[in-house]
Amino acid sequence: MSDNIRVRFAPSPTGPLHIGGLRTALFNYLFAKSQGGTFILRVEDTDQNRFVQGAEDYIKNALAWVGITPDEDPWIGGDFGPYRQSERKGMYAQYAQKLLDSGNAYYAFDSSEELDTMRENLKAQNVANQQYNALTRQSMTNSLTLSEAETKERIDSGKPYVIRFKMPQKEEIRFKDTIRGHVRFHSHTLDDKVLLKSDGMPTYHLANVVDDYLMKITHVIRGEEWLPSAPLHVMLYKTLGWEDSMPQFAHLPLILKPTGKGKLSKRDGAKHGYSVFPLEWKDPETGEISTGFREDGYLPEALINFLALLGWNPGDEREIFSMEELVKTFSMERVNNSGAKFDVDKSKWYNQHYLKAKSPEELGEMLLEELKKDKVDCTLEKATQIAELMRERITFSNELYENAKYFFHAPTEYDAKVAKKKWTQEAVNIFEQYISEIESASDFSAENAKAILEKVLEKNEVGLGRVMQALRLATTGEGGGPDLMPTLSILGKEEVAKRIRTAIEKLEAK
Ligand code: GLU
Repeated sequence: MSDNIRVRFAPSPTGPLHIGGLRTALFNYLFAKSQGGTFILRVEDTDQNRFVQGAEDYIKNALAWVGITPDEDPWIGGDFGPYRQSERKGMYAQYAQKLLDSGNAYYAFDSSEELDTMRENLKAQNVANQQYNALTRQSMTNSLTLSEAETKERIDSGKPYVIRFKMPQKEEIRFKDTIRGHVRFHSHTLDDKVLLKSDGMPTYHLANVVDDYLMKITHVIRGEEWLPSAPLHVMLYKTLGWEDSMPQFAHLPLILKPTGKGKLSKRDGAKHGYSVFPLEWKDPETGEISTGFREDGYLPEALINFLALLGWNPGDEREIFSMEELVKTFSMERVNNSGAKFDVDKSKWYNQHYLKAKSPEELGEMLLEELKKDKVDCTLEKATQIAELMRERITFSNELYENAKYFFHAPTEYDAKVAKKKWTQEAVNIFEQYISEIESASDFSAENAKAILEKVLEKNEVGLGRVMQALRLATTGEGGGPDLMPTLSILGKEEVAKRIRTAIEKLEAK
């Protein structure tokens, strides 16, 4: 255990947080908490062109919903703030300057047309890597090809420039990744990345490394898509003289489509009708809505449990873990290095599990929430009874109402198949007697509602099985549902009688 462990989740607010991003946050959080460390949320918003209204709030709300609470973030602050890169603007240039001074970076003045021409030329020569690198930098307009005086003159006269990292031509860059083991890259495959842009803003690479260093980050846990950036980051640590403070890297496996072929994308969700975002998101520009797990009726604890096992396993057969248990059990050693299939059925299974584990009152409260949206009044007591009946039959909390609307609205339509098969004159006779019997009944508990029915059936020598479905049809409009007698009891004898009468009027008996 060490309380010096510091990890960060560093999303860019360029849109809603994808489920993969949430898993990255979760693994960082679990690792930090399992080690008694600190979990930091840092907003990486240096790319003003990609700024999206509402995205930062979305990140904050999504983390809050699932119970991932940062120890330091832009709102609660901390000793290493600010925690929004746009508010740290002034901090980065000095490090670019340090790299310039040590000969590890240089000024580049090339216009975008010149960069295009370079790429075109390389393409024409069949060069696979059309990069600004150790070879091509020799023929471009930069402080390595210009004289010192020319460089100074350009800068003094306000010509736009960027600062690029001078990637060495022949160097093997090695580091140990917690998940992937020893990783090596050869520098000739890497380009001279821009560190500081012409507007004076740092790029992701510079800001990310500088902030990790200044915030004393000990472990960088992030998605696999950042693995190609890691060698540059390692080089930055080296050339800035921070090698001893270099964090331990861990690149998490991808989340794959349910088929296992390729990375899970936003489009997959939209196409196949499942969510890939924790919360619903409305694109501020197009108005396009992406559905969210929360709005789909998932419980946050189900989503967390599901996400934890996407790429991590406890080493045994256990599948059910609360956040607390995850904190106790999680270890980076058990994170797999191959992609994890996004299994929609499994996510539903988890949700069912956690819904079943709720107390009757908690389910009742959930039903009341759903009813509120539809402006339907109900007492907690009644909602609890209904929810309890529905418990075993639902996958999502919104189905508490969706699948049980007949508790609040008399049927306007009847399941045609059942009506055709089961709505018989014999059933109608029974129901007419049943109505008059229940009218005088003082107790309409489920047991008594059933006892009265059985009495009528006995008198007419008709079996229960011959009328039950018709009774359900008349009172709910449906062919299936939870136990009927408790359903009738909740509806109340007046409502049951009224509904049966309506059904007798509306349906034609065979
Ligand atoms: N801002 C990057 C992102 O959007 C952070 C990557 C990292 O963790 O280094 O994911």
